[in-house]
Amino acid sequence: KVRVRFAPSPTGPLHIGGVRTALYNYLFAKKHDGDFVLRIEDTDQNRFVEGAEDYIIESLNWCGIPYDEGPGKEKGFGPYRQSERKDKYRKYAEKLVESGNAYYAFDTADELDAHRKDHEEKGKTFIYNWHNREKLKNSLSLSKEELQEKLDAEEPYVIRFKSPKDEMLHLKDVIRGDMEIDTNILDDKVLFKSDGMPTYHLANIVDDHLMEITHVIRGEEWLPSLALHYMLYRAFGWETPEFAHLPLILKPQGKGKLSKRDGEKMGFPVFPLEWKDPKSGEISAGYREDGYFPEAVVNMLAFLGWNPGTEQEFFELDELTKAFELERVHKGGAKFDHEKTKWFQQHYIQQADNDLLTEEFQKILKKDEIEAEDEYVHKVVDLIKERVVFVEDFWDQGYFFFIAPTSYEPKDSKKAWKEDTSDLMKELIEVLKSQDEWEADKLQNEVKAWIKSKEIGFGKVMMPLRIALVGALQGPDLYKIAEFIGKDETIKRIEKAID
Ligand code: GLU
Repeated sequence: KVRVRFAPSPTGPLHIGGVRTALYNYLFAKKHDGDFVLRIEDTDQNRFVEGAEDYIIESLNWCGIPYDEGPGKEKGFGPYRQSERKDKYRKYAEKLVESGNAYYAFDTADELDAHRKDHEEKGKTFIYNWHNREKLKNSLSLSKEELQEKLDAEEPYVIRFKSPKDEMLHLKDVIRGDMEIDTNILDDKVLFKSDGMPTYHLANIVDDHLMEITHVIRGEEWLPSLALHYMLYRAFGWETPEFAHLPLILKPQGKGKLSKRDGEKMGFPVFPLEWKDPKSGEISAGYREDGYFPEAVVNMLAFLGWNPGTEQEFFELDELTKAFELERVHKGGAKFDHEKTKWFQQHYIQQADNDLLTEEFQKILKKDEIEAEDEYVHKVVDLIKERVVFVEDFWDQGYFFFIAPTSYEPKDSKKAWKEDTSDLMKELIEVLKSQDEWEADKLQNEVKAWIKSKEIGFGKVMMPLRIALVGALQGPDLYKIAEFIGKDETIKRIEKAID
């Protein structure tokens, strides 16, 4: 059975790159009828950030890609937070020591720094592996007695992986194909720290094994760790899962990794939800609060590194699940394009159910203390929907259905209001007053006939009328506006404009 995991470290809000990793894991799991596991990798207590785990879970739920198994959804492989699995890891590190694949190292941070400096001065880089393992303080270089002495004295040590000499490793990646790595360039990575905690590498491999993960789908930044992970599986004698490393998400200009700063500079969120930093109180924008629909964000993310190989651009989640293939994920970095996100948003709001949009618009109206019948709001939504990208836009595009203009756009009214306009408007009021049937098409016929009879241009009437009803030269069909707001209100607004 396919089992994948999303394994974030709760060090802050989930970046959209992380959401994309989660999405691809989700799609792959659903496509193969598998399980999507959430594992919280919180072994580094120094980088732990309050609220980050909740944020991650809420983000997945908002996107509509909830995990099947994980914190709070125990399915027999838990606990799902590494901090709650602490006692499991030491045993595995010791196993590797016993089998000769790992060793104790007693070098202090200062000593290692000194070695590094020393090498630098000679123009070399210090690699802790077979090149110099013998000269350093570890269980491979010390005599049995020396080693026992240190252990008895409880000198702090780490457990390092013993990477092999002169070997070509053959690595496989579903997206990148086959790769070869010379083990001579690899250093003996720390697996277990002196504080009794495993490093990411050990905990990650042990947990993927214990949780029976079949496919590891993660960001490209973990590709350099792949060789070590391969060697760890081999050393344990465990079956290696399949690996797929997703391409980087690049800045809109194409060079370099997309950062929070890019979003701030160019005015788009790089987080799914708004995030308030618990220490600084600083707030970072989120797609949800900025009015995006999760469908739009998911569709945008799906295309950041993948394409279906067809012309189809709009994919709902279930369609994505069918179409998604890891083999079709690109190797090269994916350029972030904010305009594209807006374009998806525009599409999905046009697809949205008008009842639902009415409900959302009502929330905005209520906030502004505007009371309106659902039926009326629904009519407005039907009429101006094609003009909006966000629910908020309903107000900008349709405030005049609810309140009289409080001011007139100066440029527009200068253009519309001429010397003879007031007299014309007074006449128009009389024409309107004589109407018994207040309906857009009827109004249009009558007003048009009257303008024709006066032998003047339409603009001479329609422009100032628009100023009177809307406050600016914009908005949908004027006769519809008049119909919606009603006879009395229409006349009242024209009278006010004449004053
Ligand atoms: N904890 C790692 C992260 O934060 C997980 C990497 C992996 O998926 O192996 O990205």
